[in-house]
Amino acid sequence: MTGDTTWTSTFDTTPGAGDRPPRAPVVAVIGAGASGTLAAVQLLRRCTDGGRRLHLLLIDRTGEFGPGVAYRTRDPHHLLNAPARAMSALADDPDHFVRWAAAQGRDVTPGTFLPRDDYGRYLTGTLLAEEDRAAGLVTVEHLTDAVDEVRPDSTGVHLTFADGAPLRADAVILALGVGTDDPLAALMPAAPDRYLANPWSDGALHRIEDGQRVLVLGTGLTMVDVALSLSRHHPRLTVHALSRHGLVPHAHRPAAARATPPTAPPRARSVGDLLRHARRHRTDNPGHWREYVDDLRPHVAELWQQLDLDARRRFLAHVNPLWNVHRHRIAPEAGRDLDRLIRSERLRVDAGHVRGVRGDGPAGYLVDAVIDGCPRTVRADWIVNAAGFSRRLVDQRNPLLQQMLADDVVRPDATRLGIDTTGDGRVVGAHAASRALFALGALRRGTLFESSAVPEIRGQAAAITAAVLAMLAAPRARDPLPLVGGVRR
Ligand SMILES: Cc1cc2nc3c(=O)[nH]c(=O)nc-3n(C[C@H](O)[C@H](O)[C@H](O)COP(=O)(O)OP(=O)(O)OC[C@H]3O[C@@H](n4cnc5c(N)ncnc54)[C@H](O)[C@@H]3O)c2cc1C
Repeated sequence: MTGDTTWTSTFDTTPGAGDRPPRAPVVAVIGAGASGTLAAVQLLRRCTDGGRRLHLLLIDRTGEFGPGVAYRTRDPHHLLNAPARAMSALADDPDHFVRWAAAQGRDVTPGTFLPRDDYGRYLTGTLLAEEDRAAGLVTVEHLTDAVDEVRPDSTGVHLTFADGAPLRADAVILALGVGTDDPLAALMPAAPDRYLANPWSDGALHRIEDGQRVLVLGTGLTMVDVALSLSRHHPRLTVHALSRHGLVPHAHRPAAARATPPTAPPRARSVGDLLRHARRHRTDNPGHWREYVDDLRPHVAELWQQLDLDARRRFLAHVNPLWNVHRHRIAPEAGRDLDRLIRSERLRVDAGHVRGVRGDGPAGYLVDAVIDGCPRTVRADWIVNAAGFSRRLVDQRNPLLQQMLADDVVRPDATRLGIDTTGDGRVVGAHAASRALFALGALRRGTLFESSAVPEIRGQAAAITAAVLAMLAAPRARDPLPLVGGVRR
């Protein structure tokens, strides 16, 4: 293993180890963003509460354990897109994050939109606190490395790290995250010095100077971060943001008393059913779409599973862009700042797509685009990729994901948004559900649709860890398990 990986073999894994006490089961969590961290927290709590021994390996190639992609930012103006009351790491303790923030000296109420940086530190702090509580029962190792291969068999799950080092675990939880799209990679000219494929990488945006023209590809949450950060530091800089639909996330409304009765979810067999239900609500409750969207949220997985494959595809093609900007809203403060930028023409948002990119002198680009249906050439000093999440996770270049797909350890769900999983989070390979390999977070989007925000992943973390510990306590079966009743595709 590479980097500052620390690995000591704490437990005897040889069969028939005589009189030595039985070894604690080994659970590996691959990925330590919010999903992996919440899964680790749940495992620790369950072991502490149930007096169970465990050896927990938390593995992330970045060497950070907690923040992941979304909460790694150090910019205090990058706010959570949900109020503090919605962001507790623990579903059974909804004020946990609010109390943590108050203890850090933050001026916080349940309705406050705190910086994302705070949330990253909260996740790490919660993990370390649970590790302390579980000391004596659970040994924990934080490994900084990339896992390149995962192979389950009848003796457990075998991991191979990037440098070829092997490791065996009794159960593995995949929390590989959201992945990002890089739509321009194939179109960029050689040596694209001023293309920021990953605006999150350390210091990437610091290279941009005042007065420059920045073309941002994508108009979602990442674009909002980029535009707000750049314009705050550079008063003469202009941002031109482009995406297929040119839709920008709506803002939350500052907390107000609820004005409509709770909405019951529709019985929807088709996209038409869903749209009719939404239109009826709009007619009956003009101006209250936020409540409508929030009411539907706990029912999203069920609604998604009611749709057949054809309807799911139609939803993705036609409704999803609208759903995204209504459902994934930004903080009211960020919404106000964004409006100001648009009104002052420092941010321009267009619907369109890029067809080609040419160099423009020693530094800069001429971007051939189609905007509002017309061919246009856009001049830019910098291009920033803000395309956000990989729409089709299974097309990601993550070597681990590709190995598992190639070896039939996992299989794509029918929409190819993610991988097939059972209701309790076991991954489904070519022919069967795994006994010891679980997944949570964005990998499950095809099964659950909404599967990457904290309220969803903390629920999955609780359910999966219960299933992992139940599996470890049960008599050994072979992996994989035969499918009972099949998995809906
Ligand atoms: C800009 C932005 C803002 C957001 N704001 C909010 C918000 O306010 N509220 C909310 O609820 N949600 C928000 N989200 C949704 C957010 O994605 C989730 O809350 C959460 O970050 C998902 O975490 P994750 O662990 O699933 O994924 P990630 O954060 O992507 O973490 C996955 C981790 O796995 C590691 N990894 C992957 N493959 C391997 C491998 N082979 N070996 C080792 N390590 C590996 C990666 O290094 C990474 O650290 C936001 C998302 C974005 C992008």
